[in-house]
Amino acid sequence: SAINMLKQTLSGQKKKKIAVMTSGGDSPGMNAAVRAVVRTGIHFGCDVFAVYEGYEGLLRGGEYLKKMAWEDVRGWLSEGGTLIGTARSMEFKKREGRKQAAGNLIEQGIDALVVCGGDGSLTGADLFRHEWPSLVEDLVKDGRFTEEQVTPYRNLKIVGLVGSIDNDMSGTDSTIGAYSALERICEMVDYIDATAKSHSRAFVVEVMGRHCGWLALMAGIATGADYIFIPERAVPHGQWQDELKEVCQRHRAKGRRNNTIIVAEGAIDDQLNPVTCEDVKNVLIELGLDTKVTILGHVQRGGTAVAHDRWLATLQGVDAVKAILEMTPETPSPLIGILENKIIRMPLVESVKLTQSVAAAIESKNFDKAISLRDTEFIELYENFLSTTVKDDGSEMLPVTERLNIGIVHVGAPSAALNAATRAATLYCLSHGHTPIAIMNGFSGLIQTGEVKKMEWIDVENWHNLGGSEIGTNRSVAAEDLGTIAYYFQKIKLDGLIILGGFEGFKSLKQLRDGRSQHPIFNIPMTLIPSTISNNVPGTEYSLGVDTCLNALVKYTDDIKQSASATRRRVFVVEVQGGHSGYIASFTGLITGAVSIYTPEDKINLSSIQEDLTLLEENFRHDQGENRNGKILIRNEQASSVYSTELIANLISESCHGRFGVRTAIPGHAQQGGVPSSKDRVVASRFAVKCIKFIEQWNKNNQAPGTNTDSKILRFKFDAQGEKVPTIEHEDDSAAVICVNGSSISFKPIAGLWENETNVELRKGQEVHWTEYNKISDILSGRMKLRDEV
Ligand code: ATP
Repeated sequence: SAINMLKQTLSGQKKKKIAVMTSGGDSPGMNAAVRAVVRTGIHFGCDVFAVYEGYEGLLRGGEYLKKMAWEDVRGWLSEGGTLIGTARSMEFKKREGRKQAAGNLIEQGIDALVVCGGDGSLTGADLFRHEWPSLVEDLVKDGRFTEEQVTPYRNLKIVGLVGSIDNDMSGTDSTIGAYSALERICEMVDYIDATAKSHSRAFVVEVMGRHCGWLALMAGIATGADYIFIPERAVPHGQWQDELKEVCQRHRAKGRRNNTIIVAEGAIDDQLNPVTCEDVKNVLIELGLDTKVTILGHVQRGGTAVAHDRWLATLQGVDAVKAILEMTPETPSPLIGILENKIIRMPLVESVKLTQSVAAAIESKNFDKAISLRDTEFIELYENFLSTTVKDDGSEMLPVTERLNIGIVHVGAPSAALNAATRAATLYCLSHGHTPIAIMNGFSGLIQTGEVKKMEWIDVENWHNLGGSEIGTNRSVAAEDLGTIAYYFQKIKLDGLIILGGFEGFKSLKQLRDGRSQHPIFNIPMTLIPSTISNNVPGTEYSLGVDTCLNALVKYTDDIKQSASATRRRVFVVEVQGGHSGYIASFTGLITGAVSIYTPEDKINLSSIQEDLTLLEENFRHDQGENRNGKILIRNEQASSVYSTELIANLISESCHGRFGVRTAIPGHAQQGGVPSSKDRVVASRFAVKCIKFIEQWNKNNQAPGTNTDSKILRFKFDAQGEKVPTIEHEDDSAAVICVNGSSISFKPIAGLWENETNVELRKGQEVHWTEYNKISDILSGRMKLRDEV
């Protein structure tokens, strides 16, 4: 394997010494990154040093450069902030300071540095690398080292990880800490919402982001805000006040009892005047609204990292070490980023330059450019936000002939964000003149009662953060009675359908598509938004509700671990859901530092349990004094018909002869999560709008809506500029699942998915897209090391 090849190349070379540091503002997930770098480095036979207190520590050297042992980072996944400290250092901005730092590194034999920080820290790091050879020359001239001493350290390797709550780095979808900060913001705004509604108040909430509106935008979408102020899209000077008033009044007139306005710290108008919370408040008071201001401040930085950030930091930390080991003196310094679901490397300098050009664009009042420099997701979501709130004044209404009847149905067990997706779909439909029609209580609801509901604006008020399913869901599939379903589809003149559901939803889409020959009404475009905590919908790596579930599991295991640590030497076998798909188990194991992960994909046997036992013994042997931690083993509910959760616990308990206590823990339905996570809310809104656009596209196929029950071929599409581009998508492509694969999002036809990618019997996809997680877990839990030693 690639890992073994790397190891082979490394053996026989001088021992590689790597340093890792955190710099700039702290962000949740930094500790997970440091843990991953330390353990991966040790795994590959390197010495890993932690630099304490950022660049300040690099300058001071000595005890600020601490060689890390495997055990030193135990328990770090669940700690907020950065445990190795961070500091701003003026000295490092001077050449003299950097020379000093270079000397300290060479003294320890270190010539590779992983820096986790914002664009300032990374700019400093890259400068340091470029200057390094000349700094080394100077150190020799100064007499600190001899030529001979510095010969092995002529080049410095730098790898950047972006640790920043602002999510302000160009080229990467999210930075370590951004989703944690967003989650905190949404929690706080949810609290504020409750009191605002009680008193019928308006709340103006300031969030962080000096040059970047990501937090404000995402929070705006996730909390159902009326209006947002972001630096990239400055509001028109002297005019924004009227627009703000109009929007708030309009929403009140539609029945809203409160208003939420999110203001980014760096919000400005197009004359570059800051727009402050007070300014906004004064405008709302003029409207006669009882208005309060909340400045969230540092709560946004605090707390433990959400599942997404632990995962991101862990995978990126591992990749940072690999990048160091693969680099040559000619390789440009890489920055580890992420696109959709894929960890990527990109040239650090270019990303930093691009990031800084956003600030420059804002300063020169070129706001179109500023926003165009953000990633596509940002722009897309910004437009969605406008479409669903600011522009719900009729300005985006389509011509009457293009207005559609769009059905929405929930199928299967409820997962988080079903309501958020339905809300976004409803609002987008309404502002475009479509009629959103909720099919109540799943397909069997329709079959039995024919109940549907034309959704109004006020119906979905509050749905952004509501768990469960407000329109009702049901496990039954469409095949129960296709004829009756066709009858009602015809009756309500559906032009398109959005299904939200897991494997039953997937099956239903297939059944409807197969029913087309018998029931022409099913020729309408139909989509599935995979929504299930099991993440077992074939063809995609992401399902709505998974993020909420993972957050719930992270919290659950953190709590359990704490209890286990307090009682000393305790092991918990935690049983998680997922059906025949081990995704949730593998992911949870990876981000909670589980000693072992049992999934349906990897069979459990006596020797693997024996290995767990040895690993546990090993863990406890090193776990002395303050470092005592509870241990977690994760077992998927269907991992084995023989080795039940109870049996595994008993086997370990029996074989350890009382040296540690073993318990089982089953979170059960708590895994569905109560309130949807901020990430799920945002994805829900993004996917819902994408599905409506998909339906619009198919209906624009030169035919009047409602009449096009004939076989359809989509002859053209509209590209981003609104230009018609020819395409040859056939009828089958109009029944599709919205899928995330690596760095791309696409609509995959259900027919092909069913044929080629589905394991019908086990209700999951053929492909296991997360095998990498298990390999990394094995490295970071020490299992690999153990195997190597044996
Ligand atoms: P955040 O996004 O949280 O502000 P940041 O990394 O951008 O993080 P900065 O305060 O800009 O935070 O930078 C952190 C440290 O990095 C500085 O205190 C300084 O030591 C170093 N640094 C920043 N810019 C440079 C530079 N141009 N040259 C050398 N060092 C720099």
